Amino acid sequence: MSYSIQPNTEDRETGPFFAAAAEGRLVFRVCNDCGHATQPPTEHCPWCGGWNTEWRQAQGRGRLHTWTTVTHQIHPDYPTPFTLVVVELDETPDVRLMGRLDGAPVLTAGQPMEVWFEKLNDDVALPQWRPLGRPV
Ligand SMILES: [Zn+2]
Repeated sequence: MSYSIQPNTEDRETGPFFAAAAEGRLVFRVCNDCGHATQPPTEHCPWCGGWNTEWRQAQGRGRLHTWTTVTHQIHPDYPTPFTLVVVELDETPDVRLMGRLDGAPVLTAGQPMEVWFEKLNDDVALPQWRPLGRPV
């Protein structure tokens, strides 16, 4: 799939997230003072106001929090149907990430999901999600 909008890999706060994704790694930012994760990732912790945050490696697994299937096409880059999913990381309920599945699969809230990386070009990849064990 081609996208007319791509992530800003140069952004100070979110750039490292996409740099890791380009290497096939999923990372999230955690506050060392209060233990919460910051999502979207920020150097400043919105939970406690501290600045002692760092990137951590995620296992790449989570649980399906919610989803919606889009059936009305509004942009040529996004043929329908497709399903947008929100997945909560196994490491923390503070981080919920979106992804896109082709079609209208049968899904169940809480089902295990795993990340995969959709390569957009040589430098940019997007973390995507699929039901655990299902091929892309
Ligand atoms: Zn904090």
